Amino acid sequence: MELRDYTWPLFHYLFVPTMMSAQTLSVSRSPAPAPLPEHLEIGFRTHLLSVVAIAIAFILLLVLAVRIAFLSEVFPWYALLAIPGGMMLADFMSGMVHWSADTWGSESMPILGKRLLHPFRVHHVNPADFLRRRFADTNGEVAWLTIPLLCVAFLIPLTSNLSVTAAVFVTSFLGIGLMTNQIHQWAHMRRAPMGIRQLQQLRLILSHEDHETHHRPPYVQSYCITTGWCNRPLAAINFYPRLERFITWLTGIQPRKDDEAFHQEVFHGTVHITASPQPNVESGGRGQMYSSAPCMLSETLHISQGAAEYR
Ligand SMILES: [Zn+2]
Ligand SMILES: [Zn+2]
Repeated sequence: MELRDYTWPLFHYLFVPTMMSAQTLSVSRSPAPAPLPEHLEIGFRTHLLSVVAIAIAFILLLVLAVRIAFLSEVFPWYALLAIPGGMMLADFMSGMVHWSADTWGSESMPILGKRLLHPFRVHHVNPADFLRRRFADTNGEVAWLTIPLLCVAFLIPLTSNLSVTAAVFVTSFLGIGLMTNQIHQWAHMRRAPMGIRQLQQLRLILSHEDHETHHRPPYVQSYCITTGWCNRPLAAINFYPRLERFITWLTGIQPRKDDEAFHQEVFHGTVHITASPQPNVESGGRGQMYSSAPCMLSETLHISQGAAEYR
């Protein structure tokens, strides 16, 4: 095998977005099952910017870790405990962002609606679509959000036990936080890449089995998608329902109105068609949220028997 045989698939995976034209709908087989909504495609420029953001974020993270390892004037043993501490906080924050997006707001909101809420709406009704997203598409936005925080982390002095521990905590938090969407995508694969499955089995990152509990209607549990460590403790104290009741009491806004409306529209009304239907590679029952295919394979689930199949 030549070097090109290895580099071209990598280049294609990183840089070439999945292009699907709505026009191809007109030539799909008839009678065709209604396609589920899909993640909005990003253009080549956005894809390229995402690759750049991911590269910058990982370089900053690496330099930050090297700085702590070699330039710290002290390094107390308990600074190592800050690593799981940072991972725990990242998991909790992933749960808060996920819960907020699932529960409040409308996908018609400017910017946030399109880039944050809509993907979560689509993810509930068509979870396998997540596997269609490429690495840069999956991780680019989190990388852009993480870069400023990584820059701020360089301001933490490495001169005392406390500040070094804080630097380790922040680096751990940002490092695992940077990977949140990727970890979430791996959790949707039946066969995660080599090494990742072992991390999942060790419960160092969110596992396939742990995340499955979130994809059961009405999608009100296991919001944490980084390590999954916070899911059980938060469920034990009824954290999200209590918070929702408090917010509803405070504002009068009912939770999940937009998500329920989206679900209703998809399965009982107009279907959002954002891309052409692809050959059905697996059946589309809600209970079958996962695909055995790796994420670079383009795939789409279909409603084959209407809404009843998803109940
Ligand atoms: Zn969700
Ligand atoms: Zn998911």
